[in-house]
Amino acid sequence: MRDPARRADVIIIGAGASGMMAAYFAAGRNRRCIILEKNEKPGKKLFITGKGRCNLTNACPRDEIFDHIVSNPRFMYSAISSFDNRDVMELFESEGLRLKTERGDRVFPVSDHSSDVIKTLTQALDRMGVRIMTSTTAKSLIVEDGRCVGVRAEEKGKGTVSFFADSVVVATGGLSYPLTGSTGDGYRFALSAGLDVRDTSPSLVPFNIKGDICPSLQGLTLKNIRIRITDEKKTLYKSPDVGELLFTHFGVSGPLVLTASSGIMPKAFLGDLRLHIDLKPALDMEELDQRVQRDFAGMSNREFRNSLSELLPSKLIPVIVSLSGIDPAKRVNSVTKEERRRLVSLLKDLTLEIEGLRGYDEAVVTKGGVSVKELDPKTFRSKKVEGLYFTGEAVDVDAHTGGFNLQIAWSSGHAAGMSC
Ligand SMILES: Cc1cc2nc3c(=O)[nH]c(=O)nc-3n(C[C@H](O)[C@H](O)[C@H](O)COP(=O)(O)OP(=O)(O)OC[C@H]3O[C@@H](n4cnc5c(N)ncnc54)[C@H](O)[C@@H]3O)c2cc1C
Repeated sequence: MRDPARRADVIIIGAGASGMMAAYFAAGRNRRCIILEKNEKPGKKLFITGKGRCNLTNACPRDEIFDHIVSNPRFMYSAISSFDNRDVMELFESEGLRLKTERGDRVFPVSDHSSDVIKTLTQALDRMGVRIMTSTTAKSLIVEDGRCVGVRAEEKGKGTVSFFADSVVVATGGLSYPLTGSTGDGYRFALSAGLDVRDTSPSLVPFNIKGDICPSLQGLTLKNIRIRITDEKKTLYKSPDVGELLFTHFGVSGPLVLTASSGIMPKAFLGDLRLHIDLKPALDMEELDQRVQRDFAGMSNREFRNSLSELLPSKLIPVIVSLSGIDPAKRVNSVTKEERRRLVSLLKDLTLEIEGLRGYDEAVVTKGGVSVKELDPKTFRSKKVEGLYFTGEAVDVDAHTGGFNLQIAWSSGHAAGMSC
């Protein structure tokens, strides 16, 4: 017999960003909703977003959002057109959360607390009668005659139970930061229902770098630099703007690196890739050579190793001196033109060998997931299995940092919530 307490119009798996947004709109249409959440509380990943401040969207003009979606931007067109960044801001403000816009159009709560974003959503869901069943892990979908009719789940203390509904929304997130609850369950559900799942890989993630240069520079942040990534044949990626790079004990991180990680096909990382750092992007080779000559002229008797303090952060100087091949004790007035040229080339192109991407534990998002070909872009409903929806990071869509990944979660949640 079907227990009425476990029967609803809509079952949503996952009380993350997209699951809660789907529930908000489904409940707004008077659908009885139950959210199953494996964690002991909702929004565990939301809590850590934006370094605990939650960069919940980006206030750029709507069309620019698509430039920041790396995989399948066209698939997102309909969902974002129906519920865009302004709609997200309006929704949260109408629910009492005051917002502010910072550098790069990043939108945060005025309080700087991601917990307020979670509280706003959970209070609204509570008001609308949505039941969030925490410590309840969905184990499998119940599919009968090509239609998803429910979910088998493990309810803490009660063992395996079945939930039944007309629609099931899988909003389980990806594989990144698995401690927050995203352990790729949605992909398993999709495969079991016969849907295609595209290969996944960590994205918006730091790089491991070969050699001992990075550990020696650990903690150093380079500002206003540019990077390029090449394989044996060609340039695969060029940073569009100057930005920051951080050296760590394993390699490199920071905004420039994270963005680069999402701009390259994951397969390429299996080959030999090089990271090229332009330490002085504002100057071309000629201008930089003149600058070095001017610096050297002002300190002609100084040893080479003590001559770069105007040009470089102190931690980087011994590395550049060593890589330049110029005798550190040589007086700068006897550095040859050829040596100076070598130094300038090095400053324009400090090359490091990439060993690979770091893992899901450090990846802001997961690339890949449920193939967009399986879903209707207006509703995020499966084309194959009736009553089944996939939203958020579980789907093969990912974007740059700046609030765009949460925008994808909100817009896809809205699309499913308005349809189911
Ligand atoms: C450190 C970090 C910082 C980030 N900062 C930002 C930011 O500032 N701005 C931005 O736009 N994006 C940010 N992101 C990305 C953003 O958090 C995600 O893209 C977004 O949360 C995805 O939403 P989602 O609803 O698809 O998945 P999630 O928010 O991950 O929610 C999925 C939920 O499903 C639950 N779940 C999974 N499997 C099951 C199951 N079998 N049964 C029951 N429940 C289950 C999980 O416990 C989880 O609560 C950040 C990510 C990380 C890791």
